[in-house]
Amino acid sequence: MTIVTTPGLERFRGLVSDALLAEIYDLARPLQGLHVLHINTTAQGGGVAALLRVLLPLARELGIPHSWRVVQLDEFAATFMARLTDMLQGGEPGQITAEDQRQFLDSLRSAMQPLAEERADLYYVHDIQLAPLGQLFPHLRPSLWFNHIDTAQPNPAALQYISQFLDAYALCTFNTPFSVFPQLPAERVAVITLGIDPFSERHLPLSEAEGQKLLAGCGIDPDRPLITQVSRFGRWKNPWQVIEIYRLVKQRRPEVQVALVGALEASDDIRAQAILADLQQWAGDDPDIHLLWDPAQLTAPVVNAFQRFSQVILQRSSREGFGLTVTEAMWKYQPVIGTSATGVRYQITHGRDGFIADDAESAAGYTLQLLEERERWRQMGEAAHRSVQARFLLPVMLRDYLAALGRVQRQGGGV
Ligand code: UDP
Repeated sequence: MTIVTTPGLERFRGLVSDALLAEIYDLARPLQGLHVLHINTTAQGGGVAALLRVLLPLARELGIPHSWRVVQLDEFAATFMARLTDMLQGGEPGQITAEDQRQFLDSLRSAMQPLAEERADLYYVHDIQLAPLGQLFPHLRPSLWFNHIDTAQPNPAALQYISQFLDAYALCTFNTPFSVFPQLPAERVAVITLGIDPFSERHLPLSEAEGQKLLAGCGIDPDRPLITQVSRFGRWKNPWQVIEIYRLVKQRRPEVQVALVGALEASDDIRAQAILADLQQWAGDDPDIHLLWDPAQLTAPVVNAFQRFSQVILQRSSREGFGLTVTEAMWKYQPVIGTSATGVRYQITHGRDGFIADDAESAAGYTLQLLEERERWRQMGEAAHRSVQARFLLPVMLRDYLAALGRVQRQGGGV
């Protein structure tokens, strides 16, 4: 089968360069017929699920069969993984005892049972919690590993713990150059730029009237300004600071409202419930603080409406591997008030298409500025949209992804 063009990719003609599309078709050709199996820990919620949902259909159209299986972690493994994430992302102290290690690997072995018979030409394992799979299951060869979290400032002991499993992978991939593990040799490392699919339901154009109707359905007053952060209720997303910023802004603009939009659905995110309860207590009975978590309510068009029609979008992450929510908001003409967390600062150019400020006072200052100077907000939003168009649309991710597969194939893997 020779693929000349595919409809999925041709939709991007005009949005990205012809040279990029040609490069993708060239990279795909030698990979045709190669069966790639992706393994991660959640089908819903979070960036990994979001990117697999858009990447896989395009790769399939290019004649490269793809499948995706989800491994369900038990409670021990999920808790261990959360602690390991704190150590790797936050550089936090912590101990990984021999007993923890043994129990974690046992959990992974049983979690993989339902997949025991699955075979492919190439395996793609996602996230730190699944890093041991390559070593535990020698049939998963050749394989690639994708680290999605922010590992720019890791705890050395945790880094060493994860690194011992990586020899099993032909290629270790990262979503920014800052998160690459320094001890890995260059020939076993690739950076895969993430990108969003502007044609997916979540990002389609939406009229303001329709958007405001959806927001009103969530209890938002369409006649008053709204500040929003769209993110899972995760510790590293720093939702507490969103409320702090809102309270500072409210001193000057009493009519302001805030929304924290974080559907409770990622099955590997075991702490979200407790964080939400803590926030509910902290928010008290302020009717202008909207904590939204019900996945049935937070449909794709509703999240789209929050990203498009909030007056100001915040992303207050203290650690962030990439942060697709930043990309999504910028695509929707929003200058995001972000932080210096790895993936956030990678995407925002301070003062041009957004702001970078770590403390609540400065972020509140920028929020007031954007609320008051709507023409500046509009111009910065245009710049944000253009930046995503040039750097973070799906074809860029597809190009980097296919190049990574090609590198492994040429090392002797696959068909
Ligand atoms: N998201 C969503 N509904 C929500 C909150 C988040 O669909 O209520 C999506 C969001 O649009 C983005 C993804 O979840 O596509 C989050 O990815 P990101 O890289 O920002 O963070 P992660 O959750 O992977 O740490």
